[in-house]
Amino acid sequence: MMILVPSWAHNYDAFWDEIKKRNFWFIKLRYGAALMLIVFLLVAEFILRASFSPVQIRALIVITLSILIYNIIFQSMRHSPKCVPGKFNQLHFSFLQILLDLTALGLLVYYTGGIESPLYMLFVFHMIIGSLILPGRVIYIIAVVIVVGFCSLVYLEFLKVIPHYAVSGLIFEPIYSNAHYALAFATVFAFVMLMSVILANRIAHQLYKIEQDLVESFDKLAEAEVEKQKYIMGIVHEIKSPLVALHSYLEIILQKIIGPLDSKVEAKLLRAKIRSDEAIQLTNNVLKVSKLKLLDEVTLQTMDFREILYAVYKKMKVNIQAKNIDYKFSDSRHNKTPVLGDKLLIEIALSNLIGNAIKYNDDKGIIEVKLSDVQDGINLEVVDNGIGIPQEEMPKIFKDFFRASNIKDKTYEGSGLGLSIVKQIVERHGGSIKVESPSRLGSEKNPGASFTITLPYNFKEKNDHTGE
Ligand code: ADP
Repeated sequence: MMILVPSWAHNYDAFWDEIKKRNFWFIKLRYGAALMLIVFLLVAEFILRASFSPVQIRALIVITLSILIYNIIFQSMRHSPKCVPGKFNQLHFSFLQILLDLTALGLLVYYTGGIESPLYMLFVFHMIIGSLILPGRVIYIIAVVIVVGFCSLVYLEFLKVIPHYAVSGLIFEPIYSNAHYALAFATVFAFVMLMSVILANRIAHQLYKIEQDLVESFDKLAEAEVEKQKYIMGIVHEIKSPLVALHSYLEIILQKIIGPLDSKVEAKLLRAKIRSDEAIQLTNNVLKVSKLKLLDEVTLQTMDFREILYAVYKKMKVNIQAKNIDYKFSDSRHNKTPVLGDKLLIEIALSNLIGNAIKYNDDKGIIEVKLSDVQDGINLEVVDNGIGIPQEEMPKIFKDFFRASNIKDKTYEGSGLGLSIVKQIVERHGGSIKVESPSRLGSEKNPGASFTITLPYNFKEKNDHTGE
């Protein structure tokens, strides 16, 4: 079997996808071409008052019908050719289509006047499309065959070895018998044909190369991202060790094991301990998210949301009580299907959302955490009546390091990383997150914000089904 795969094709999956797409274009274009042919014949007959002989009409009908029939056959078999070099593949399929088209076109040109037929231009058009698909050497050979075939036709008609089918009413002076014109025409035709094929083939090659370079650059970027994540993990790990030590010392001092503390010093140390807690929490989050980015897989465990939410609540209880926040939890789920996912990651996500609802709320604020059913999954809402988020900044809220403008007048500690981490975690579980502000608990002074996470029961299974 003739090998048609060009030497420059490297990323074979992308290459075959492209060839399949182009084969389908061919099929669609052919219906257009058949329609155009019918229009051309009608315009020639009724508007230009050209007239065809009965032989021409029969020939043109047979050619048009043949094009339509083989196109229907091609359309029905377009998925059958494989994408394997060496066997009848998608490239052989292109080659077969081009050969049949060129034969049909040759006959059309012959029956509509040979050198006098305006349809000869379709050769150039067809070869440009062919150049985008077939390797250079094959397309150059086809171009040479067309040029030689067309020149032979012109020459044989000139010698009157074969009959000339003029379209009467279109050209008044026959030009096929004018030797000078025929020679000039054939030379220009050969030049245009070969140059178009060479240029189109080179451009196709270059475009393909640019596309390949882009694919390689994306691969390199992905590799660099992995290296970056490893680097971040290394550094954060180094930072975490002294932080944990500092935290333990503060705890020992605050437990007054070493000796009594002045109340002012104790208050400052307590504040330092809270800040070191936050710093450790942040390093844990960064470590976990770096792992999430490095590994494609998320650990699948059965998650008990009430348990996770309770664990988060316990951690946040001090802050909730310190601000006198009215914390309400409700669970209206009827479906008992467990949600599968990575407990630790989901806990990070939920503590970020609830932590924000506390942080960006005033004293005596309200927080509602609601679990409910959705189709094939669960909904988790965290609603507050805190400071809210300015409307125009909502689209940026999940971006790394983004902090809204309305928090600047008060000193809310934070890094702007939490929500971006939450979004990544939710998406890794096949879920989605949306934000609203004002929330349903909001007032004019405190518009509040509401975050809703939707998670499927089993995102892996869901994806397997959709992939079928
Ligand atoms: P951080 O809280 O560390 O600044 P986040 O990524 O968690 O970072 O949040 C990004 C920004 O979104 C916050 O700085 C804040 O402006 C806004 N935000 C998040 N949650 C709320 C909320 N519940 N109410 C009001 N603003 C919020």
